[in-house]
Parts: sequence; structure tokens; C-alpha cells
Amino acid sequence: MFADLWIDEFRVPPGKKFKLKNYDPGWTGGKEFADLGKHAAKERAEAILAERVKELTDAQELLYADNRYAVLVVLQAMDAAGKDGTIKHVMSGLNPAGCQVFSFKQPSAEELDHTFLWRLARCLPERGRIGIFNRSQYEDVLVVKVHPEYLPTGRLPTGKVNDKFWAARYEDINAFERHLVRNGTVVLKFFLNVSKKEQKKRLLARLDDPAKHWKFEAGDLAERARWGEYMKAYEDAISATSTEWAPWYVIPADAKWITHAVVAAILAKTINELDLRFPVLSSQDEAALVAARKNLEGKSDSPQFGEPGT
Ligand code: ATP
Ligand code: MG
Repeated sequence: MFADLWIDEFRVPPGKKFKLKNYDPGWTGGKEFADLGKHAAKERAEAILAERVKELTDAQELLYADNRYAVLVVLQAMDAAGKDGTIKHVMSGLNPAGCQVFSFKQPSAEELDHTFLWRLARCLPERGRIGIFNRSQYEDVLVVKVHPEYLPTGRLPTGKVNDKFWAARYEDINAFERHLVRNGTVVLKFFLNVSKKEQKKRLLARLDDPAKHWKFEAGDLAERARWGEYMKAYEDAISATSTEWAPWYVIPADAKWITHAVVAAILAKTINELDLRFPVLSSQDEAALVAARKNLEGKSDSPQFGEPGT
């Protein structure tokens, strides 16, 4: 019930101008949670997270056995919005063999020598797997839009870097994602929507706690100073790329427990809505299993070295 509510609440409808001001970073469960009080609400969200993680564990096993679909989870956010924590919590119940996480940072010289989608295409999840992109193809229309100086302009055939240039990138991303979806990769995109105020609190907490000093990066302050430009870039990108086939979800990120529970709920529900099934064995395969049992239980199974008879 909560999952359904959350999915509708946070999915960005395709084809409309998306306005960040309509999505509250501080949302903590709406009316149903408000009546519980803060402590009980947190406990409830943690219980939901535990339920969803369990549901995800089962869904992942089926995804793996079915082996037709892959799931790609795209995580985008400002610094300290909680991408790492979300990955850690949401994936806590998953089998690591069926799960891959890739982090995309400043592109290497080799990556810049290719089109901007190249490095992403090399990291896509295989069938049966869940792949997580910690930052993604969207950096190329977010950080690069705020810092056009990062573009390898000398080596791009494009003329001016203007609205048309960015519109072409959105179009390329949409086509790339459409290709993935048509071929069995489900694409889910999450923007962890943290407020500027909460980011300040978290950055200060990193300075206050010596154990967190390693997490503090002075460069994050320079990006924080350009908050407005980033929000505008997010609005433009999400408006242009929340599609029927690959929707964006804008997740409240000022309270970490809500972020984790909402992401887990959406992920579990999406996987459960696929027509997944365990492979059905043919009669020959079933007969082979009976023969295998006979073999293992019968005399023909050779003893281990060192056992009597070897
Ligand atoms: P954390 O700070 O929690 O470790 P992070 O995702 O911020 O995680 P960093 O190594 O701090 O990781 O930062 C990676 C940086 O790389 C970000 O500032 C991001 O905007 C930048 N980046 C990612 N992709 C591109 C790109 N295509 N072009 C330029 N910069 C990029
Ligand atoms: Mg960082």
C-alpha cells in the first residue's frame, strides 16, 4: 500500500515541464506518517525498508533464474545527498553475485576520446542482474552543463554549445534508454532530492567528526555555490528525459530512512511487475535429474580419494 502511494507520488510524468518546487526534499511519509510522530514514523519506515529488502531478495533470485531481463538503477544527486548510503541499505539483502555497482567520475582521456555514452554502455548489467550507476550518462547534461569548459570542444563536430546542443544530448540519452528497454533492460532513474540546508548540515557534520574528515572535499563547496545552476540543469534534464519507458523518480532525501525505504519500495515493485518465472524443465531435463539422483545415490558414484576402495 505504501509502495503504490510512493510510486505515484514521486514518478515524474513524461512530457511535462518538471518543477523541483513541487517535490519536497523534507517529505517524511505524508499524512499517514504525520499522525505517527517522528520516532514511530522512522520505525515504520525502517520496517518498510526491511520488508522491501526481503521482497527484493526474492525478486532478485527470480530475476536471475528467469535470465531475460536486467535492471539498471541510475542514481543522481548533489554531494552528500546519500547515494552511497542508499546503495548500501537498499542492496543489503541482495546476492552480490547478481548485482553490479559502477561509479562514474571525471572522464579519463580514453573516455573523452569516445562519445559520451561509450563508458556507460560498457558497464550495463547482464540479463538476470541488477546494475547500479552511481552517477551516470546524466553527468554529461548536468555537471557538464554547469561547466561547459569540461567539454572536449576541440574534438566535437558540434558548432555552438547552446540549447540545441543539450537538446540533442537529451535525445541521444532517450534513444539509448529506449534501446535498452526494448531489449530487456528495465531502466529506473532516481534523483535524490536533498535541500541546500540539509547539505550544509551534512557537510558541517563531516567537518565536526574526525572520522568523517576523509569524506570532506573542498571542491564540493565550489559546486554548492552553484546550487541554482545545478537545480536548473536538473529541471531541464529531468523534464526532457522522464519518459514512458524510463521514468525519473524524485526522492525526498533530507531524511535518509525515507530515501532508503522509498527507493527499495519502487525497485521491488518494479521487478515484481515483470512477468518473471523460474525456468520450466522439459521432460528430458526432468528425466536427466532422476538419472543424476540414481547416479549420486548408487554404486557408480566414485569414492573420494582416501576413502576405502581408492
Ligand atoms: P562521494 O563524494 O560521495 O565519494 P561522488 O560521486 O561525488 O561520491 P567524487 O569522486 O567525489 O564522487 O566525484 C566525482 C565527480 O566527477 C563529481 O563531481 C561529478 O560531477 C564528476 N563527473 C562525473 N561525470 C562527469 C563527466 N562526464 N564530466 C565531468 N565531470 C564528471
Ligand atoms: Mg563527491
